[in-house]
Amino acid sequence: MRNVRALAEALQRARVGEIRQGERLSNYTTMGVGGPCRALVRPPDLDSLERLIRVLGDLEAPYLPVGGGSNLLVADEGFEGIIIATEALQEWEELDNHRLLAGAGVATARIVRWASGRNLTGLEALAGIPGTIGGACVMNAGGHGGTIASSLQRVEVVTAPPAIHTVTVEAEALGLAYRSSSLPGGSVVGRVELQFEEAVDPGAVEQTVLDLLARRAATQPIGTPSMGSVFKNPDEDSAGRLIETCGLKGLREGPVVVSELHANFIVNTGGATATQIRTLIDMVREAVEALTGIRLEPEVVMLGFAGDPPPPMAWIPRGNPLRSVEPAIEKSFGALPGGVAGDRAP
Ligand SMILES: Cc1cc2nc3c(=O)[nH]c(=O)nc-3n(C[C@H](O)[C@H](O)[C@H](O)COP(=O)(O)OP(=O)(O)OC[C@H]3O[C@@H](n4cnc5c(N)ncnc54)[C@H](O)[C@@H]3O)c2cc1C
Repeated sequence: MRNVRALAEALQRARVGEIRQGERLSNYTTMGVGGPCRALVRPPDLDSLERLIRVLGDLEAPYLPVGGGSNLLVADEGFEGIIIATEALQEWEELDNHRLLAGAGVATARIVRWASGRNLTGLEALAGIPGTIGGACVMNAGGHGGTIASSLQRVEVVTAPPAIHTVTVEAEALGLAYRSSSLPGGSVVGRVELQFEEAVDPGAVEQTVLDLLARRAATQPIGTPSMGSVFKNPDEDSAGRLIETCGLKGLREGPVVVSELHANFIVNTGGATATQIRTLIDMVREAVEALTGIRLEPEVVMLGFAGDPPPPMAWIPRGNPLRSVEPAIEKSFGALPGGVAGDRAP
């Protein structure tokens, strides 16, 4: 544990928020799988977030921001880096003119409820989408004709090392596209400003939200752990339709199943491993490609699988692959008694 402790000491000195060493990421993903990370840190405000990124930059420690983990598949081997959990960024400020300032860790569902209770229109399309508002910005979350882009005004972002600053980025500059944004890896959304408008008909927003929730309940396997849609829709087609047409509904790998209700959902019916989930994802992808010639692109962000590129929002120091955080820590703290071996095999 020594190297992890050394890193934790540096983080504690910098007062960056709660630190949980070796935390298992299965507790932070809606799919309920994922091995340990070096440490998970929960900065409580933007200043702590900026200090945290400075320490990680100085130590050349790889990191990944994580919100609700509802679009994330973490390998059983975990992540040899730091997870910045945004869940404690819970700022909430109602501004004039139907604007809301929310910390990145605020649940998207809370904002949808708040707006619908005031008949404020703008984010109804996000009804039923789990996770945080920070994650929704980065993924440009949405559905049924709208995305967060309809209400998003600007975000406050802490930029990645080495030029670490807290900057305000206007929504138009975020490069929001289908389930993606152009934020550079290692930048962390800390705060979000949303703009709503009052709907004309009383109760209209609440009715739309209720309709959308009912539609989800009827068409998606709500209540069984999943990551939402696994694949992005290819141009002018639907990934779910393609998977269904290929006869893959019900395909399983142990307890991991292609949902009978929605073919683009893969569900964990209990006790799944990340390896089983990844195997089923690859099986579906290969079968669809073999039968239709279309190669589906995952919407789900994958972390820690050997041979994959790092996730787009990760910060991986140049020349310092994921598995070599030790030399940087040793450089910063001097040789530690007993060496700097990790607390588990690489
Ligand atoms: C049942 C179910 C239904 C779903 N339905 C939909 C749907 O209809 N439409 C849709 O778009 N999505 C849907 N999703 C997927 C998911 O809920 C959304 O993408 C959601 O917005 C992700 O938010 P999160 O906080 O969980 O992000 P996470 O899963 O934690 O992270 C997703 C990505 O964003 C990055 N990230 C997270 N927070 C930050 C931050 N503050 N700063 C920088 N990077 C960050 C992570 O590094 C990761 O790359 C569904 C998921 C489930 C489980």
